[in-house]
Amino acid sequence: MLKIDMHTHIIPKNLPDWSKEFGYDGFIRLDHHKSSWARMMQGDQFFREINHNCWDPEVRIKEYDRFNTHVQVVCTIPVLFAYFAQPEHGLKVAKFLNDDLSNLVNKYPKKYIGLGTLPMQAPEMAVEELYRIKKNGLVGVQIGSNINNKNLNEPEFFPIWEACEKLGLSVLVHPWNMMGKEHMSRYWLPWLVGMPAETSRAMCSMIFGGIFEKFPLLRINFCHASGSFLSTLGRIEHGFNCRPDLVAIDNNHNPKKYCGQFWVDCITHDPEMLNYVLKMQGSKRVTLGSDYPFPLGDLEIGEFINKMQLEENLVEDIFCNSTLEWLNLKKEDYL
Ligand SMILES: [Zn+2]
Repeated sequence: MLKIDMHTHIIPKNLPDWSKEFGYDGFIRLDHHKSSWARMMQGDQFFREINHNCWDPEVRIKEYDRFNTHVQVVCTIPVLFAYFAQPEHGLKVAKFLNDDLSNLVNKYPKKYIGLGTLPMQAPEMAVEELYRIKKNGLVGVQIGSNINNKNLNEPEFFPIWEACEKLGLSVLVHPWNMMGKEHMSRYWLPWLVGMPAETSRAMCSMIFGGIFEKFPLLRINFCHASGSFLSTLGRIEHGFNCRPDLVAIDNNHNPKKYCGQFWVDCITHDPEMLNYVLKMQGSKRVTLGSDYPFPLGDLEIGEFINKMQLEENLVEDIFCNSTLEWLNLKKEDYL
């Protein structure tokens, strides 16, 4: 059975020193301090130590062979989104990352599928970059759950959704820049509490802002099985019903209507939760993702699903059919 992991992160082995080039901080640089390892640095601040499986395509393919996974959908690490930067600098960073991904997918067309990055702080430039992304062989984009704390329903982003629809490019919404992170630095809370909340923030903003009504052809996937969205959907629906004056001001459709219109990945680490997600979404809207190569991901690439004794056609939907439909790709091209 074809297995496609649609949520994995990759980074070029060598990054320019953008802070030096542009004259201000915030950009990530890599310090290759020992063989096969690098430190991601933000100015003088250490962010994370990474291994060569973060940049070496051959190392990654070997690791994926161990879990019978054939194809990796790759995108950058969200901390590399340069939304804070001046627009032309943000565009330069995005182009660098997108060109690196294009080279990768053109070299390994059966092993890698690429999702680009956009300068979301400058929607006109982002639209231009979408055309280049399409031309260079990427099939969609990964964007953050908020853009410098602006929500994804803001009208300034409409031209981006419109261009994605027109070009047939898919979207992965990834949590980042977690709300409240400055108040919960202990216990990894930004990752454990903030990230699921961020994804729900993105989904509620898009639903209540009517984005799925205005752009019905958009194909959007939300990370980590929708974060806390699906598990709190009862509350969200009740809020919509009991206070329409607050909630239903831009879209009068019940939020539950949209389950099964968008996609979510399967990263739940919990069979019971995945069963619930499957019930809410249907198997054709749940995709195999891992968050490889990071430790909070499912680094056995869906092995827990094999143990759930689901019907084979459901497993096949999760392992490949849903992702192929989300990205509008043909199975034959990966066999
Ligand atoms: Zn991720």
